[in-house]
Amino acid sequence: MNILITGGSGFIGSHLTKHYLKNGHSVTVIDNFITGNKNNLKEIINNKSLRLIEVDLVDYNYKDLSSFDIVFDLASPASPAVFKKLSFEIFKVNSIGLINLLDFFVKSKSKTFVFASTSEVYGDPKVNPQPETYYGNVHTTGPRSSYDEGKRFAEAVIAAYISKHNIDARIARIFNTYGPYMNKEDGRFISNFINQAINNQPLTIYGDGSQTRSSCYISDMVEALAALGEKNNLKGEIINIGNPDERKVVDVANLTKQMTGSNSQISFLPIEEDDPKKRCPDITKAKKLLGWEPKIKLEEGLKTTINYFKNL
Ligand code: UDP
Repeated sequence: MNILITGGSGFIGSHLTKHYLKNGHSVTVIDNFITGNKNNLKEIINNKSLRLIEVDLVDYNYKDLSSFDIVFDLASPASPAVFKKLSFEIFKVNSIGLINLLDFFVKSKSKTFVFASTSEVYGDPKVNPQPETYYGNVHTTGPRSSYDEGKRFAEAVIAAYISKHNIDARIARIFNTYGPYMNKEDGRFISNFINQAINNQPLTIYGDGSQTRSSCYISDMVEALAALGEKNNLKGEIINIGNPDERKVVDVANLTKQMTGSNSQISFLPIEEDDPKKRCPDITKAKKLLGWEPKIKLEEGLKTTINYFKNL
């Protein structure tokens, strides 16, 4: 197959790129490296089946590209640590960038479009776990609004293209994901805790750590995204992808300390406004439509991720 992956040098994108190259497909990656990292593609950079285009989706003209079997759109900064700093980049790539890409998709008669949306569309949810039918509780002007509303707008754009151009587009609502090749500086809780623990620095918990997250290991995420791109009869489907093993942030901090054998203290810092108090995917739909469920337990995935960061 001929695959296009925007954001293909990011954490999830680089794993997806390697997955398709390993399975003998041709992959075109478009990335401007705003939060992605060329180093993530180091081991495949000379692969003849990889084409890397360094450009911003917002002003790319797609002139030298033809039809793709699957287009995965993963291009967007995604860490809460940059939601304010990169707010306009987030708005633009999820609006202008997405519309440019969809226009190319229609014109080139490409087959399947998979959009990386997010659990952030549920905001600070009043329903737990969150099914796809939940409309969310988002603060439209809060500190997370660039990403939350950017992705909600993007979902609306995709719905309009499906209705107007009859394209086969599918939406993945991606929940917290972790594993090797996470950006060390990204500010995510799992990467922060591991790096703080192995460097004997205090583990920073925002708030009292009673907020929950449900973390999916990267290999499970890649499997689900590939299934979403490849299965038949999923046009217009919106599917949560994540691991429903819900844990308190403080428990993940203590588990990381224990697994790294670290003597680090825990330091409680102020929590940012609108930080979701609970987050857990209802994956009934993913199980049914993708025949998928996560296999890697948190303890197992943390072990691999800790080793990765230790060897950096
Ligand atoms: N968090 C934390 N310490 C950190 C980084 C994050 O306590 O060093 C908390 C954060 O406030 C949130 C949760 O961990 O409640 C997950 O944060 P992350 O940035 O990984 O992603 P989010 O799920 O908020 O998008």
